[in-house]
Amino acid sequence: MSKKKKILLFSILIMMILFLTACNNQSELKKVEDNAFLMDTLVKVRAHGNGAEKAVKESIDQIEAIENLMSKTVTKSDVYKLNHNPKKEIIIAPETMVVLKKAKKYANLTAGDFDPTLGALVNLWGIGTKNPTVPQPSAIEKALKNTGYQYLDLNEESAKLTQAKVKIDLGGIVKGYAADSVRKIMKKNEVKHAFVNLGGNVLVIGDKVDGSAWKIGIQDPRKGRGSVMAIVAAKDMTIVTSGNYERYFEENGKLYHHIIDPKTGYPAQNNLLSVSIISSSSFDADALSTSIYVMGLKKGMKFIETIDEVEAMFITKELDVYLSSGLKELVEIKNKDFNLIEGEYFAN
Ligand code: ADP
Ligand code: MG
Repeated sequence: MSKKKKILLFSILIMMILFLTACNNQSELKKVEDNAFLMDTLVKVRAHGNGAEKAVKESIDQIEAIENLMSKTVTKSDVYKLNHNPKKEIIIAPETMVVLKKAKKYANLTAGDFDPTLGALVNLWGIGTKNPTVPQPSAIEKALKNTGYQYLDLNEESAKLTQAKVKIDLGGIVKGYAADSVRKIMKKNEVKHAFVNLGGNVLVIGDKVDGSAWKIGIQDPRKGRGSVMAIVAAKDMTIVTSGNYERYFEENGKLYHHIIDPKTGYPAQNNLLSVSIISSSSFDADALSTSIYVMGLKKGMKFIETIDEVEAMFITKELDVYLSSGLKELVEIKNKDFNLIEGEYFAN
């Protein structure tokens, strides 16, 4: 064998070894996954790498801790204490304060389309409980009088509900806060690749182990969990969806879902099946998905276009899909029943 050939063969051998080691390293990244039923929904946390085991455990514990602070049914929670001690200054945990402040910020920003004080209405409808009912109009009137973020006073370390019978409900925002807390835990544990799903609040950390982008499925709003109508390629991103199909009941052929318009007291009535918000903050995306669903397509799209680096995907009852301007490149529609509406929307 000539010297040249030997060098060539040797180089090929070295390259093969390097390639195999690289592949091996990737598959060696340990994968840890855990599921739990928390915050009234299925929680899935998956992480890869050395810190994965610790990070996944801490994440599940943290989600449970947040639930214990902010659930309205856990009797020791801050929210329970506030709801059951009207007109009293209640000392609350810093974590709860962060969520109440953000919730109030979105209430202001959306002029009350998002309202964390609509607990009286949510309880009245009972959607998602064993006994949902269409309330009497007089009962809705009463609950509307006990709804309004102006009744929520926030101080440094304490909060107060200034009117009796007003009830806090953080269901529209708390999962987003929890997802962002998981991101912090992953970072602390130096986890570079992770995936979190809190009942439709999806968060991906980094890219996939093989270096490609995560592909997040957007659920087909006509079907149950697991059926995907579009895919969004994402790194370090969150997708949060609010839809009329998640929690609802039917009476006399009419569908009543769990996103309430705080101005009417009834489930938001519009032409939307769902709104998905894509952004880097799950906390904001969660508040926004609920808010934008209440606003509806036209007002919601205009609102989203005023916020930098936050995108939205709307699906109407006709299965028309509307994408905000920054999203057009990232979404791939997988189901032919859905029609992507192209062009500029609602220019005036
Ligand atoms: P999900 O919790 O199913 O992911 P959302 O994030 O849209 O969906 O939150 C819906 C929940 O938020 C309701 O179950 C209720 O607790 C609360 N909610 C309903 N309507 C509103 C609203 N207009 N503003 C704030 N919170 C709301
Ligand atoms: Mg929400």
